[in-house]
Amino acid sequence: SPRPIPKRILKLDQTVVNKIAAGEIIVRPANAVKEMMENSLDAGSTDIIITIKNGGLDLIQIQDNGCGIRKDDLPIACERFTTSKINSFEDLTSLSSFGFRGEALSSISYIAKVKITTRTADAVCAFQMEYGLGQPLGLGKLCAGNVGTIITVENFFYNNPVRKSILSSPTEEYVRLAEFVTKYAVRYPNVGFTLKKFGQHVADIRTPPSSSTLENCKLLFGNTITRELVLVEGETDKYHCKVAGYVSNPNFSIKKITFLLFINGRSVDCNKLKRSLELIYAAHLPKNGFPFIYLSLELPPGLIDVNIHPTKAEVYFRFEEEIISFIVTLVQSKIMASQTSRTFTIQT
Ligand code: ADP
Ligand code: MG
Repeated sequence: SPRPIPKRILKLDQTVVNKIAAGEIIVRPANAVKEMMENSLDAGSTDIIITIKNGGLDLIQIQDNGCGIRKDDLPIACERFTTSKINSFEDLTSLSSFGFRGEALSSISYIAKVKITTRTADAVCAFQMEYGLGQPLGLGKLCAGNVGTIITVENFFYNNPVRKSILSSPTEEYVRLAEFVTKYAVRYPNVGFTLKKFGQHVADIRTPPSSSTLENCKLLFGNTITRELVLVEGETDKYHCKVAGYVSNPNFSIKKITFLLFINGRSVDCNKLKRSLELIYAAHLPKNGFPFIYLSLELPPGLIDVNIHPTKAEVYFRFEEEIISFIVTLVQSKIMASQTSRTFTIQT
């Protein structure tokens, strides 16, 4: 066959580049909800209210009582790579925020219609601006509003019918985004989380601000599970890794594993750790029984690379084997201790 004539290499138009990136970062409504919840937490909010219409496809609204966005910054808030969180690459080593790459709002504005209403503490009223493809639509306007931010995202994937058609049903998309809200509500009991469907008065998730992990577990997973939870706390001798959380005791099981893992405040997956913990429970639980596991790890920033893709939840860290083996031993000792104390209570 004849050799093809090489085509010229051309630089893609910036809008095309941003559109491609947006599709990678925001795969489904749950990604948008997670990114915006993290922004609200970064803004120091103590109350976050999320309203969803049609699984997020028609509307995602997130209202917080955080620090708000300055009026002067609003025109570039949805531009790609604009952030208030870092100035230099070195800042990543001491990062204390979720965000840093300035891509979330931009990506969302490339796949949906975005409207931001926000007010800072020193402003006399709120300001509202709408966005499309990273840019403001119009000059914005003054309006009434409390200190904090309301972001509405409408018409998800309006400009990408293929992507829209491969999403699951609105019910399934709602389940996925509710999972993120649940996880964050467990990890951040000082913040109140509300998740409701548009037009519904009763929220599907509601945790009060300044609650506790166990109180929130009760609200989110029910009394039955919460009564069976054992506190897990410990710190490695080496590496300065701290572990805290709650796991179900070995006399109790659920039909499907619940595994909530956070590292340095971020919701992550770590299949190696998950499988190792499942193994220790397998020795105690009936064949189709699984544990509830919630663990929050604090690792020194030097052991973990935060600069991974936002949708890539699986993490890898240094000294993984040692740290996982420490956690497994710790959990094992706590659940065994809970069993002994249980036997002891029954006997006396
Ligand atoms: P990043 O979080 O990586 O900085 P985002 O695109 O998620 O990038 O947000 C861009 C900027 O918009 C943030 O740096 C922050 O200054 C501002 N912002 C976004 N959401 C909120 C919010 N809910 N409250 C206050 N500021 C916000
Ligand atoms: Mg962000």
